[in-house]
Amino acid sequence: MSPRNGSAGDTIAPMRTILRAELLSIGSELTVGETRDTNSGELAASLTAEGVEVLRMTALPDDLPSVRDAFAAAIGRADLVVSTGGLGPTPDDLTRESIAAAIGETPSVDPDLEAWLRGLFERRGISFPAVNLKQAWVLPSATPIPNGNGTAPGWWVDLPDGQVIVALPGPPRELRPMWSDWALPRLRTRGLGVATATVTLRTTGLGESAIAERLGSLLDRGANPTIATYARADGVDIRISARPEAAAGPPDHGPRLQGDAPGPASDPAALLAAAEREVIARIGDHVWGRGDTTWPQAIAEALDTRGWSLAIHETGLRGALPALLSEGLGDRLPMVLSTIAPAGASADETPSVGDSASGRDGLLDDAQAVRASSGADVGLAVRATTSGGDMAVTIALVDPGGEHVERRLAFIAGPMGRSRAALLAAAVLLARLR
Ligand code: ATP
Ligand code: MG
Repeated sequence: MSPRNGSAGDTIAPMRTILRAELLSIGSELTVGETRDTNSGELAASLTAEGVEVLRMTALPDDLPSVRDAFAAAIGRADLVVSTGGLGPTPDDLTRESIAAAIGETPSVDPDLEAWLRGLFERRGISFPAVNLKQAWVLPSATPIPNGNGTAPGWWVDLPDGQVIVALPGPPRELRPMWSDWALPRLRTRGLGVATATVTLRTTGLGESAIAERLGSLLDRGANPTIATYARADGVDIRISARPEAAAGPPDHGPRLQGDAPGPASDPAALLAAAEREVIARIGDHVWGRGDTTWPQAIAEALDTRGWSLAIHETGLRGALPALLSEGLGDRLPMVLSTIAPAGASADETPSVGDSASGRDGLLDDAQAVRASSGADVGLAVRATTSGGDMAVTIALVDPGGEHVERRLAFIAGPMGRSRAALLAAAVLLARLR
């Protein structure tokens, strides 16, 4: 099946490069908070990766006028509108009716779809419910999108001005293959998005505002490349995204000068590389990973570079360190010990522990001990104790290169502080390994 252009092939819809999209999530279960809208986020990530700008994402109740108006408004702003939900057979599933009303077309039953649908019920030995017939509807401008995992086919709708509506069912396992195997390849042949180059730098040890201060005007909106910061649970990510210069700048004014051909600097990859160098120059020592690298991946890689294994003894972290690191290190992590509270302290409230006469409260001994009993190359001991409203964190490392102890402060005591303490320990370990 391929998307038809215009009604019965007698008009050809202008091919329109799809640069801007809107997403509609349909269903009262979303607007009453019973179902979380994950579909929009997945579709937005997919479209962004294709270089399409997502203008907005809207959740709507099962209400025909609301959904109709949302479609009508969205096709006035965007080249592509993708909806999910409301394709079921029940009277509250109104996406088909809403699209028909928004574009002024009348649905009719598609005989092939009806036969397929009746076959589905026959095979299950169920008589065909009359309400299901609307799942065999099409519009003159609509092509059904086959659904291999449910009874609700989607719709691909070609509009006279070249916009496209893609209507998909709500259940994620139904829509995912319909989107990636059917709709996306067809959208690509249409011309989808602009070639963009993107990289994410993962940082640690600086807050979002400190990063913003260092990056300064690099964060200006509308610049190319675009640089933005995102605070995550395990650090602040910096996303750099470059578009081709021609698409980013204002339309051509006057004739091009000879020798003014787009040079390498207008190529997204070159723009991206230059911006990345600039960011690294300003905060390089805080960048610990690229892309979607996780802490265990970064540490596993650093351990492998040296051919080392790791053993951990945490105290007062209540499992925060193994929660962060143990999944993904495999055999590189033969042992983890977790002591709930330092000796002599109650398990519920870990008191502030000062330096003992030997310094470091014997934490290097803990690192030595776990290293010796596990046979690992690196012994890491971490202790977190409440200190005021925060957590004082001591990190001790013993490896073939020697010993290392560091003290840090993790803001806010309790579970949040313990997770931050684990991140501090991971950062110290990674820096030492590298
Ligand atoms: P069906 O034929 O299964 O009824 P439908 O197109 O009518 O499909 P809905 O009734 O709107 O889809 O939703 C069915 C289920 O899909 C919901 O109960 C929910 O579990 C899931 N779902 C719907 N919309 C979303 C969404 N935006 N994000 C995540 N899950 C969703
Ligand atoms: Mg439904």
